[in-house]
Amino acid sequence: MNHFELRDGELWCEGVRLSEIAEQAGTPVYVYSSATLRRHLGVFRDAVSAYPDRLGTPLIAYALKANSNLSVLQTLAEAGSGADTVSEGEIRRALKAGVPAGRIVFSGVGKSDREMAFALDAGVFQINVESEPELERLARVAREKGVTAPFAIRVNPGVGAGGHAKITTGGITDKFGVTAEEAMRLYAEASRTAGLKPQGLACHIGSQISDLTPLRRAFTILRGLVEALRADGLEVTTLDLGGGLGVPYFNQPDPPGPEDFAAMAAEVAGGLDVQYVFEPGRMIVANAGVLLSRVIHIHRRPDGGRRFLVLDAAMNDLMRPALYDAFHDLRPVKPRTDGERETYDVVGPVCETGDTFTRERDLPRFEPGDLVAFMSAGAYGAVMGSEYNTRPLAPEVLVRDDRWAVVRSRPTYEEMFAAEPKAPWL
Ligand SMILES: *Cc1c(COP(=O)(O)O)cnc(C)c1O
Repeated sequence: MNHFELRDGELWCEGVRLSEIAEQAGTPVYVYSSATLRRHLGVFRDAVSAYPDRLGTPLIAYALKANSNLSVLQTLAEAGSGADTVSEGEIRRALKAGVPAGRIVFSGVGKSDREMAFALDAGVFQINVESEPELERLARVAREKGVTAPFAIRVNPGVGAGGHAKITTGGITDKFGVTAEEAMRLYAEASRTAGLKPQGLACHIGSQISDLTPLRRAFTILRGLVEALRADGLEVTTLDLGGGLGVPYFNQPDPPGPEDFAAMAAEVAGGLDVQYVFEPGRMIVANAGVLLSRVIHIHRRPDGGRRFLVLDAAMNDLMRPALYDAFHDLRPVKPRTDGERETYDVVGPVCETGDTFTRERDLPRFEPGDLVAFMSAGAYGAVMGSEYNTRPLAPEVLVRDDRWAVVRSRPTYEEMFAAEPKAPWL
């Protein structure tokens, strides 16, 4: 459920007309709904909290990389969310938005010494280590500081899943995590190493997962590992089951809901007397955001050829279609009343053939100047934006009830150029 609805013949976000935002903030522009953000976090929390005897009180560490806008984060932090981060920058964002350090997880395959030191100074809850060399470096960085690093080992269970090969992370040929055997060995070694405090295991096998079977297999492997470590006399106090739950993008069957996911997690990996951690990203933010764009013109090839709907949004604003062949539902902000439809290739102005959002899609007929909403654009949208083709980053707007605010402004050209000082010899 989300808070983008048709009323009085046009699309609203909560109590605000999208057309008003487009007119005042300009297009392209991202718009997020506070009510949807809070609702999705609440639905997920209720689902995983429904098994207090099996899952205790889980830490929900929202995966910042899906949408790290500071006001979005603060909205979630105020609703009790923790943070899963993958860089020093993301840790800084989480702290700035008010996420307590004790609710921050630091993940990622290639943390630098500097980033590890920053995380230790900040006092994050846990660093999820993904390889042996990384663990050795973490031990060294912690010893140099005279502290002990709380960490979990990210296990690659050899079970890949996800909506596209580029968002599958749990296959053995993917770069993430260590094998179950390595995890056992590293955990035992770390328990004897100064500077390291092994506290648990983690996994995250992919994104936009539409079937619980691979998750069930991965969680079964993790449970077995926790039991094996304990049988070896080692202490395990946390278990991080990652994120990855899919969301409906309208062209696919609905993925399993948080309730089914939580019931499976409780059944397969519950009851271990650990602090459970979940890292949902997409499911919290995807349907809490839209990208608004305006039709520049319609370009028709002669003799019944393709009809191109040329928008002012492009692949630099929303990469997912170019990167993952992702599908976004496209809706007119003010739907026509005559029901006329056309088949379009929807494209942006960037000089790349990949700058195509969709091909031969049957849509309501559009005219130049009409507003289009890319639905489900709240996750992996604005965060992947770039200034390719010297296009200013699209601004971001947050709505709460009948109020809205620009929460990231569109840079001016002068601001963009200011970051490029002239070489002294020019
Ligand atoms: C990306 C990521 C997530 C979130 O994935 P979603 O599919 O957005 O839920 C969680 N944990 C880790 C380690 C990640 O890299």
